[in-house]
Amino acid sequence: MSEPLTLPIDARTRYCAVYGHPVSHSASPAMQNAGIAALGLNWRYLAFDVRPEELGKAIVGAKAMNFIGLNLTVPHKLLALDMVDSLDDSAKLWGAVNTVRFEARDSNGNWQAVGELAETPAEVRSRGFNTDADAITRAVREDLGLELAGKKVLVLGAGGAGRTAALKLAADGVAELFLVNRTREKAEAVAQEIRRLYPRVKLVLDYPSGPVDLVLNATSLGLKEGDPLPLAERDFSLEAAAAVFDMIYRPAETPLLKRAKAAGCRTANGLGMLLHQGARALDLWTGKRAPLEPMRRALTQNVYG
Ligand code: NAP
Repeated sequence: MSEPLTLPIDARTRYCAVYGHPVSHSASPAMQNAGIAALGLNWRYLAFDVRPEELGKAIVGAKAMNFIGLNLTVPHKLLALDMVDSLDDSAKLWGAVNTVRFEARDSNGNWQAVGELAETPAEVRSRGFNTDADAITRAVREDLGLELAGKKVLVLGAGGAGRTAALKLAADGVAELFLVNRTREKAEAVAQEIRRLYPRVKLVLDYPSGPVDLVLNATSLGLKEGDPLPLAERDFSLEAAAAVFDMIYRPAETPLLKRAKAAGCRTANGLGMLLHQGARALDLWTGKRAPLEPMRRALTQNVYG
């Protein structure tokens, strides 16, 4: 299928970007530029290697240069909470910013995305959003056909992504959550937050003793060749899981997913999650539905060749 033509850069071109450190591995420029082209916008999406100590200045600089918005990746998502002018409820709820939208007042005095305004007034603010949390459960629903309310889920990992996933699963009404992390204190801290916010969820800081509907890997084990499995098979057999979601998307099939397939589980990797967090960011910047299929094709081509 032929992809839409990208408009040439001229003096009216507007910009968005991803900031990370490092950033050279990012597939976001390929995915977002495909979405931008499909929408027929004279925009470009760039990637910048921004050191954490320069993040505040880099956000202010993008605002001064009339950028549309930003995505933030490792290690900026927590730092940015204190560096944007305003926080959307999603960033407050999930405690991290992965998307910044620059906003100005429209003719009625309401804040609106600068991407939707023909002229950008002098007063612009940066507003932080989180599109990661919704992307996790959307990908699980679409790629595994799994509705999470009332389900039993084992979450492996309690870093940034594991914490967001566990909180979002609790918010979506899972019945039982099993949290396992190498550093137990981090899983305990996540469990404490969930107990406070979602007291109805049954929480266990250990492997399940019976079957679960989903195992979700949010550790970085599987990224590197030769990594061990992120779970202890003597404590939990994958035969007891109906489905396994691995947030890792490179490689496409981690040792965990291979083992899960062999054990008869439905499986999905993290590409759908990456797609949906990016598509939601583009929705927020344009005020339009992001074109998922061209974005998915560009992402798949960029990541898997
Ligand atoms: P992070 O905050 O650094 O957390 C890393 C997690 O992996 C922690 O739970 C850590 O345990 C665990 N871990 C690391 N090395 C380990 C080892 N040798 N043995 C056991 N556990 C180990 O990273 P993150 O941002 O949460 O990312 C986690 C994973 O999700 C990464 O693979 C990342 O690529 C993926 N991810 C995917 C997407 C997507 O869009 N698909 C988005 C975000 C993240 P400790 O707490 O004990 O250190």
